[in-house]
Amino acid sequence: MSEPSKLVFEESQAGRCGVSLPGCDVPERPLSELLPPDALRSADAPLPEVSELQVVRHFTRLSQKNMGVDTAFYPLGSCTMKFNPKVNEAASGQPGLLRVHPYQPTETVQGILELLWRLERFMAEIAGMDAVSLQPAAGAHGELAGLMVIRAYFDDKGERRERILVPDSAHGTNPASCTLCGLNTVQIKSDAQGGVDIEHLKANLDRTVAALMITNPSTLGLFERNICEIVRLVHEQGALVYLDGANLNAIMGITRPGDFGVDVLHFNPHKTFATPHGGGGPGAGPIGVKAPLAPFLPVPRIVQRGHAFALDCDQPKSIGKMRSFYGNIGVLVRAYCYLRSLGPDGLKEASQHAVLNARYLLSRLRPHFDLPYDSPCMHEFVLSASRQKQKGVRALDIAKCLIDLGFHPPTIYFPLIVPEALMIEPTETESKETLDAFADALIQIAREAEESPDKVTTAPHVTPVSRLDEVKAARELKLRWKTV
Ligand SMILES: *Cc1c(COP(=O)(O)O)cnc(C)c1O
Repeated sequence: MSEPSKLVFEESQAGRCGVSLPGCDVPERPLSELLPPDALRSADAPLPEVSELQVVRHFTRLSQKNMGVDTAFYPLGSCTMKFNPKVNEAASGQPGLLRVHPYQPTETVQGILELLWRLERFMAEIAGMDAVSLQPAAGAHGELAGLMVIRAYFDDKGERRERILVPDSAHGTNPASCTLCGLNTVQIKSDAQGGVDIEHLKANLDRTVAALMITNPSTLGLFERNICEIVRLVHEQGALVYLDGANLNAIMGITRPGDFGVDVLHFNPHKTFATPHGGGGPGAGPIGVKAPLAPFLPVPRIVQRGHAFALDCDQPKSIGKMRSFYGNIGVLVRAYCYLRSLGPDGLKEASQHAVLNARYLLSRLRPHFDLPYDSPCMHEFVLSASRQKQKGVRALDIAKCLIDLGFHPPTIYFPLIVPEALMIEPTETESKETLDAFADALIQIAREAEESPDKVTTAPHVTPVSRLDEVKAARELKLRWKTV
């Protein structure tokens, strides 16, 4: 087991200092002359007293305990841990892009406005939509914005529709966004193949439904084979189709949501267009809509007037602003770089590789785990550890054991309709050797689950701490290693 790090406070030695400042060349005055009494400390701040080298080593050591796409295979299903090409960092780090300020007059930021305007058009083209807003700050925020647009659209038509149909395989953010938007979620069952149960959909469809919120490919990693029929049924009732675009990575350049009838969707550039994510963000959540919904998009819209670009707030039907300023610009610039460097053919190839990698991994793992929905997968697939559970080994144990073998665990216990779910999504840029090594590791764990389950249920053995109370760990952070 590797040595737990000390807290930087525990390294503190009275009198040690990490900086040397030049002597003061103006007369010194006590702080009490400069600050009001209530702004003064009664005692010194309890800062650690450490050398520069101690600080560097402390934080470098901590960073090495982390795991990311740059250090290891990271097959976190649903999250699409894409490889982030370093050229995007170089391009987006140019001072002209990095240092613009949202309060600058628009005539001084024409370059960035043009870049964002073009990015909106690229995204519209990729998804087959008519208009895009880059403003929402994450996928879930895009869901909320998209639902608000749908609400505003029906309000404008004088129609009262407050039900949103959401398949039971959906991401938890879908019903959460409906609730935040004041709409009611109606859960639609999946059929035996993992698609939308058409009869259950029909039974719940009427003119009180505002939209069907569907994920395609679904969180089971399956392309909805009845999508055209589903869209026809929804539109027949005057309702709209919202696509959770989190899985766009599987279909870029192959098919377009707009072409299969989607009216509103959100993009997750951090999952689809290779902008960094993890550790809490920031991501982005642009939304795309068909023309009849465009007047309701958030303001400001980026518009072209002659050769100049402007920010237009004069949109009377708009849902208003979703956040400060114009979006998470740094993320969006990286998405633009990714799209420009890959081009249409490169994007299609990225999707093809994502699907190929997932299908290859599935073909190797299929004999060793249960596969509740056995159809050709897209960019991810969901195994079940039900077989292993009979020996007392759960999906959680398998995930922990992978850490010992040097891999980031897959997503577990999601989607909820698969018992003991292991949701695996290999990054599209991984080599066959890496995929094989990961498959070998999971096959080894499946064998150990049969032969020596204790080894699996006590993993991980190589980390500073092993098993935590998963709920308590999130709710009551304990930062002192000695008391863990
Ligand atoms: C990631 C994800 C979301 C939420 O997107 P964020 O950008 O994390 O807010 C919604 N739906 C699905 C299917 C996802 O995978």
